[in-house]
Amino acid sequence: MKKGLVIDREAQMIGVYLFEDGKTYRGIPRKKVLKKTKIYAGDYVLGEVVDQNSFAIEDLEERKNFLVRPPVANVDKVLVVMSIKMPEFDNFLLDNLLVVYEHLNADPVIVFNKIDLLDQREIKELEKWEKLYKDAGYDVLKVSVQKNTGFEELKKYLEGAICVLAGPSGVGKSSILSKLIGIQLETREVSEKTERGRHTTTGVRLFPFGKGSFIGDTPGFSSVDALYFMDKKEVRLYFREFLRYRCKFPDCTHTREPECRVKEAVSAGEISCERYRNYLRIIREDMSIAEEICQ
Ligand code: GDP
Ligand code: ZN
Repeated sequence: MKKGLVIDREAQMIGVYLFEDGKTYRGIPRKKVLKKTKIYAGDYVLGEVVDQNSFAIEDLEERKNFLVRPPVANVDKVLVVMSIKMPEFDNFLLDNLLVVYEHLNADPVIVFNKIDLLDQREIKELEKWEKLYKDAGYDVLKVSVQKNTGFEELKKYLEGAICVLAGPSGVGKSSILSKLIGIQLETREVSEKTERGRHTTTGVRLFPFGKGSFIGDTPGFSSVDALYFMDKKEVRLYFREFLRYRCKFPDCTHTREPECRVKEAVSAGEISCERYRNYLRIIREDMSIAEEICQ
């Protein structure tokens, strides 16, 4: 059987990109596939070409993840787009997004856009955040759509990946999308107010770009509250740098327990106070815990 990727999912329409020839076919699911599960953009399918337009879907590969918003499966990279200004950088929002995407098992990477807008002082600030997040264990890329910088690196970094954009309004998500796929296209904003965003009627599309990469035309979250997705106790698992330390209690919440290696690391400057404070804020803890160890 041949392998394809569902890149277009809208009502009864299933667009399947066939890896063998790079062409898109109309997917026709066989009964047993239909019975098993619903098909989404990002699903890897197996089947046979029926004619020059149609592909019979015989089977569906198991998903490694599924982002509900947008409804895309097997997302390899979430480009969490941020800017230092216009809009102003918000590290609390960023940390919430990182936690949620890590929880959804989709690797978040930080993309700073609009670096053309920065003066010397702001460049220093950007470099501070870049180092902070790299030290915490995240990949950080810097681009400017305006000046067309950083896109070679970004494309290389995303080779072979299924990606989705996320981040606050105005940071340049639709501009980045257009730049990557080489055509002007508005990203479809998902309604914040109702669970039924526009995608329920228009569907999500994945666009091929670069070397075997795909990107969704509908962005993910612009802001989130991590506790909407998980229990307080789970949040510590999604602060990457915390996982390097073994506290006395394996289920240590890094708040009031004795012999907490994470708090020791904060105190020693190995873990940033910004990140630790945001951790406390996300789990609605008493912020004075940080004051004791952050000067
Ligand atoms: P979105 O809301 O995240 O999709 O952001 P848009 O792509 O709509 O961009 C918001 C505004 O920022 C638009 O006016 C863009 O032209 C502008 N913009 C996007 N990227 C850049 C950039 O790299 N530099 C500058 N100076 N402006 C940018
Ligand atoms: Zn601890």
